[in-house]
Amino acid sequence: MRLANVTCKKVEEYLTRSQTVVIPVGSIENHGKHMPLGTDTLIPDKIVELLEEKSGVMIAPTIPYGATNTIMGCTGTITLGTDGLVMILTKVTDSLFRYGFRKFVILNGHGGNNKAIETVGMQLHRRGAWLANLNWWLMAGELNPEWKGGHGGAEETAGVMGVDPSLIDYDYINEPMDLIDDVAPNMKTTGWGTVDYKGATVVFPREMHNYSGNGWYGKDEPHLATVEWGQEMLRTFADYMADFLTELEKLDLPKAEI
Ligand SMILES: [Zn+2]
Repeated sequence: MRLANVTCKKVEEYLTRSQTVVIPVGSIENHGKHMPLGTDTLIPDKIVELLEEKSGVMIAPTIPYGATNTIMGCTGTITLGTDGLVMILTKVTDSLFRYGFRKFVILNGHGGNNKAIETVGMQLHRRGAWLANLNWWLMAGELNPEWKGGHGGAEETAGVMGVDPSLIDYDYINEPMDLIDDVAPNMKTTGWGTVDYKGATVVFPREMHNYSGNGWYGKDEPHLATVEWGQEMLRTFADYMADFLTELEKLDLPKAEI
C-alpha cells in the first residue's frame, strides 16, 4: 500500500491493524561511468515494487537524496549532508509518529546515509518506537556471499540491471577499478579515504574523485554482472523483507525513556 496513493481514511484503517511503515532512502551520486546517478534510489524503488506483490505494508514515498559528501565533486552528485538527512528523516518520522506509526523500516540504498538513519533511530527508540535499518546491498551479500560487492561494482551493476538493463552504459562496463595514490607515492590508496602506510591503514578523509579515476570501487568487477543475477537478488531481498516485516509485527514496542 502506497501512502501517496491512499486517503487519510485508508491510513486510519491501516493503523488499526499495523503500526509499520517502510521508508526507502537513496542517493544521487556517481557510481562509475557505467552506472546511473540514481543507482541507490532506483534499486530500493524496485525492491519495494516487488515487496508490494508480497506484502500489504504501508510504503512511504522514497527520499531520493542522501548524505554523500564523500562523492561530491563528481558531476551530478547531490548531497543533503548528514545534518540535512537527519532533519528530513526526523520531520517525516515525526509526522508519521503523530498518527500512530511506531515501527519504521528504512530500506537504505547508500552507506553514507547510515549515520543519519542511526541518529533518527536512536531518537525514535527513546520515544518507544522501533526503527529497523535495512542496508540492502550488505544484507544481500549476507544472504548470498556471491552477491557481496562494492560501490558501483558487479553487485550494484546487477541491481541496476534487475531494474532496467538499458540504464547501464555498456561502453564503460569493462573499465578496471582505477585507484590513484593521490596522497603520496609511498602511501597506496586502498579504499574509502584510506591509504596503506608500511602495512597499516591510515584514513585521510577526502572526496572520492581525488583517488578514483572512474568512481567505482570494490573487488567485484562490473562486467561480471548479469540481468539474471540482478533479478534474482532483488526478488530474494524483497522476499526476505516480506518475511522480516511479518516478524516485526510480532515485536512489542520498546519502553519510552522520555
Ligand atoms: Zn550505491
